[in-house]
Amino acid sequence: MATAYTPDLSIIVPVYNEEQSIDIFLNEIEQTLQNISLTTEIVFIDDGSHDQTFEKITSHIGKSQTPISVIQLSRNFGKDVALSSGIDHASGAALVPMDIDLQDPPELLPKMIKEWQAGSEMVIAVRESRDADSWFKRKSAQWFYRLITRLSKTPIVPNAGDYRLIDRKIVDIIKQMPEKERFMKGIFAWPGFKTSKIYYKRPERRQGESKWSYWKLWNFALGGIFSFSSAPLRIWTYLGLTLAIFALGYMFYIIFRTLILGIEVPGYASLTSILLFSSSLNMIGLGILGEYVARIFNEVKGRPLYVIRQTVGFDTPETVGTPTASQQ
Ligand code: UDP
Ligand code: MG
Repeated sequence: MATAYTPDLSIIVPVYNEEQSIDIFLNEIEQTLQNISLTTEIVFIDDGSHDQTFEKITSHIGKSQTPISVIQLSRNFGKDVALSSGIDHASGAALVPMDIDLQDPPELLPKMIKEWQAGSEMVIAVRESRDADSWFKRKSAQWFYRLITRLSKTPIVPNAGDYRLIDRKIVDIIKQMPEKERFMKGIFAWPGFKTSKIYYKRPERRQGESKWSYWKLWNFALGGIFSFSSAPLRIWTYLGLTLAIFALGYMFYIIFRTLILGIEVPGYASLTSILLFSSSLNMIGLGILGEYVARIFNEVKGRPLYVIRQTVGFDTPETVGTPTASQQ
């Protein structure tokens, strides 16, 4: 086996049914990488695509300027897990996750590298504006970031996705974070280190369609909050206490009123509404508890995060041009 190739920079690209985007992406990224005076590699993760994505990628191995390798997962595990498998396998001194649809513009790379060389261990690309999004999407993103920064101690940077440069120091810590709930915004932020931001305008997707629906976004937001904050669990103690104080006050009020004014027929409507209100609060509390229990269940099962079908093109550059498939 050839000695392991350790480039300065590994570009990590998770892909799911993106056969028509591969050529365009490689063309653009190679142009950018040519003007960078660092050694580089591109690591693709085929996240269980049903189309020709994998074949498309392997057809480029050995023919491109930059060494390319690909991890093929056994099925679709979702972008965050795919990304994590790439982080586990890439060997660069710095890693840059990138989407295939060129919404993470390669032109930003030189700027990121400059910041990195100036001493930042994490350089985050932050969206300058969300003008292209609908009003509802903009507002909900704003509420989400406001809530999560208030609830969680992890300093999550608003309006930043996975597009960022991550130094090996941080990569090695992320590799030790075994949680199955891969809320990457939080996972990237948790290790700390020196972080800087560069701002950019996020372009539209070039090819194909985004796979995010509102329901998926909602679950993503909940997942982020539940895996990076335990505040929703604790609220219930205080809510319960407050309600108990009100209930006690109301009880005394009724006792005194009955003593002074005599017995009266009790209010049926108010009784029913209080009962319904408090029992629905109970249910919400149980639901939130359930969210955490479900996550604990998921973690304690201790299953592997992903399953690899095969990897091609690792241990380059000696093997460039002769794809070596290694069964894992
Ligand atoms: N992706 C993936 N697995 C999935 C869904 C998406 O690897 O289950 C990849 C996709 O091919 C792309 C990136 O993740 O390279 C971002 O996906 P998309 O553009 O659909 O998301 P958005 O930009 O809307 O967040
Ligand atoms: Mg996209």
